[in-house]
Amino acid sequence: MTEIRYIAPQTLDEAIGAYAAAAGAARILAGGTDLLVQMRAGVVQPGTIIDIKKIAETTGIEETPEGGFRVGAAVSGAVLAEHPRFGTVWPGVLEAINLIGSTQVQGRASPGGNLCNGSPAGDSVPAMIAAGAILTLQGPNGRREMPVEAFPAGPGRTHLAPGEILVGFTLPPRPKGSSDAYLRMIPRTEMDIAVVGVGVSLTLENGTVTAARVGLGAVAPTVLLVADAARALIGSKLEDAALDAAAAACSAACKPIDDKRGTIVYRTRVAGVLLKRTTAIAAERAGRI
Ligand SMILES: Cc1cc2nc3c(=O)[nH]c(=O)nc-3n(C[C@H](O)[C@H](O)[C@H](O)COP(=O)(O)OP(=O)(O)OC[C@H]3O[C@@H](n4cnc5c(N)ncnc54)[C@H](O)[C@@H]3O)c2cc1C
Repeated sequence: MTEIRYIAPQTLDEAIGAYAAAAGAARILAGGTDLLVQMRAGVVQPGTIIDIKKIAETTGIEETPEGGFRVGAAVSGAVLAEHPRFGTVWPGVLEAINLIGSTQVQGRASPGGNLCNGSPAGDSVPAMIAAGAILTLQGPNGRREMPVEAFPAGPGRTHLAPGEILVGFTLPPRPKGSSDAYLRMIPRTEMDIAVVGVGVSLTLENGTVTAARVGLGAVAPTVLLVADAARALIGSKLEDAALDAAAAACSAACKPIDDKRGTIVYRTRVAGVLLKRTTAIAAERAGRI
């Protein structure tokens, strides 16, 4: 049996040092709900596991004085759901993260792990793209920031450089009249992978959309920012014509696979349908704020 070394550093510098020293033979462990499954299946065989759940910066949630949020990469969905303010300000991001798996999975699974796993169907990713999340990455060459939509590189791949760790993500302060939502389509009622996932974030002023972002998942090799859909919504009062144009932009952005869980035609149509439904929820929430 191959021996695996497990370490749980207390600081980011220690974790980065150990990751670099392992020269590609280590894996970062957040909740382990992807990593351990992949290890059991023999897909990955790390020599060292670096658990980042003992590090303050990867496990904290902080509301900034301006009203933004800094969330550590290894914060679990369950912990995020218990935060007194996060779900009020970013209900769509929270509902996307809380759709991951079951109650048991929620106790471990982190949005950071969801991002780093690189699945085009990762549920938190379209919502984080809609939210305009900025990622903080740190590695042997220092710290850098990246908009979340630039992070996925393809199925199972990200733009993390060798030795880099995702430290966390920042969500910006929200103007009054802003909210967000996430919906996914799955063939079963729960515990399934999205066939399509849509995140929408909106700001409304007197009923007119003044800002919008749309994230689209499970319909292309990476989760997508659909700028054309957002453009169709901005300046509108969410009339049918604007919603039809935004839905068409989502369908046009699709480059899906054809598999037993959804054909290309089905996924492409559902992307437009979900855009309308998700926008309606985000707008209704924004109208209350
Ligand atoms: C039963 C079950 C149901 C599931 N349901 C869903 C679902 O509905 N939707 C969905 O999207 N996913 C689902 N998943 C997949 C998984 O739970 C999620 O992707 C989860 O968010 C992964 O987070 P984690 O903290 O467990 O990641 P981990 O397993 O700890 O890590 C995942 C990968 O990212 C790397 N990594 C983790 N954190 C970092 C970091 N900070 N920096 C660099 N690399 C890092 C790890 O090395 C590993 O390769 C399910 C999994 C299971 C077992």
